[in-house]
Amino acid sequence: MSLELKNIYKIYPNGYQAISDFNLKINDGEFIVLVGPSGCGKSTTLRMIAGLEDITHGDFFIDGKRVNDLPPKDRGIAMVFQSYALYPTLTVYENMAFGLDLAGFDEDIIKKRVTETAEILGLTQYLDRLPKALSGGQRQRVALGRAIIRKAKIFLMDEPLSNLDARQRVNMRSELIRIHRDIGATTIYVTHDQIEAMTMATRIVCMDVGVIKQVGTPEELYFHPKNLFVAGFIGDPPMNFIRGHVADGTFTSNDGYYTFPLGLSGDALAKVNNRDIVVAYRPEHAIWHPKAEESEELVPMKGKVEVYEMLGDIQNVYLNVGKEKAIIKAAPDESVLIDSEINYYVKKSDFHLFDAKTEEAIEL
Ligand code: ADP
Repeated sequence: MSLELKNIYKIYPNGYQAISDFNLKINDGEFIVLVGPSGCGKSTTLRMIAGLEDITHGDFFIDGKRVNDLPPKDRGIAMVFQSYALYPTLTVYENMAFGLDLAGFDEDIIKKRVTETAEILGLTQYLDRLPKALSGGQRQRVALGRAIIRKAKIFLMDEPLSNLDARQRVNMRSELIRIHRDIGATTIYVTHDQIEAMTMATRIVCMDVGVIKQVGTPEELYFHPKNLFVAGFIGDPPMNFIRGHVADGTFTSNDGYYTFPLGLSGDALAKVNNRDIVVAYRPEHAIWHPKAEESEELVPMKGKVEVYEMLGDIQNVYLNVGKEKAIIKAAPDESVLIDSEINYYVKKSDFHLFDAKTEEAIEL
């Protein structure tokens, strides 16, 4: 099913405006991830879609029909929360069958659906167990099963993986992608974790204090962030920012630590010249051993190692750069010593430029 949120506002009874002018069209079968820091309004948005929270202003459509006032149970929506809310005294089978039982379905149909759903979720061998005899990941799958079994057309999920340990989370991420592919239901998933957003979404909606900062595919948000907020939020470790000013095509950082020509001319130069801008680059764009032929393109950078993290396949190196900080990645065999000076390079073409005042990306 398709959904559309048009000029949606949410003002809570205490006067707090949690959502402002939220506009989004969701196509049938999409996996949309709402991502943003805690308190930015993700759950509020999800709860308005579910009908658990009134919409203060604006219009909400499901398949073209305005449903602002439709009760939750009539919206064809299933919700999965972070707490699994399973009945502790009922078996996996009974937990999954519960909703259908209540709705008065025949025993045969219930059995068929539970069997099918258990198959999809890999729960067939656990149907007789009580929730307490399951792992966190298995319990989450049962909770998911209760939503799937109703054959809902729209799935809403609010941080469903946050109670799982790191390995279970990774497993469940690929599990959810597979289940979504099998079932094809339109899914809206809320998380503060940008890795979940990057790995699962067909499109990401990145939010900050009640507004949408960017909507796009994971690739669009990663490679073409529209503003400083998205640039800083998507990516781990986050992008590095250098604030400064451009004069005669040369960028000078506000602290005077860096001065380098941006290598721009014509229209591109005109867009940034005599402006306060932010030069940004991703940690993985630090080049440790440049090839001679690249030298024209490279900007030399340096910093003092404060800490480093060896992750096995890569190292994250935290640098003090004058009074500022930077994080760069290094190959695992690179020798990194605390307090040592590191010289590295970044390609000018890997820079993202932002207007310092509006914080919007400058497209060259
Ligand atoms: P998120 O899910 O992104 O963490 P929420 O949607 O839960 O954010 O909350 C968004 C903002 O609205 C927060 O600042 C929160 O404190 C506020 N908020 C949530 N529920 C209420 C409420 N019932 N009354 C007033 N403010 C609320």
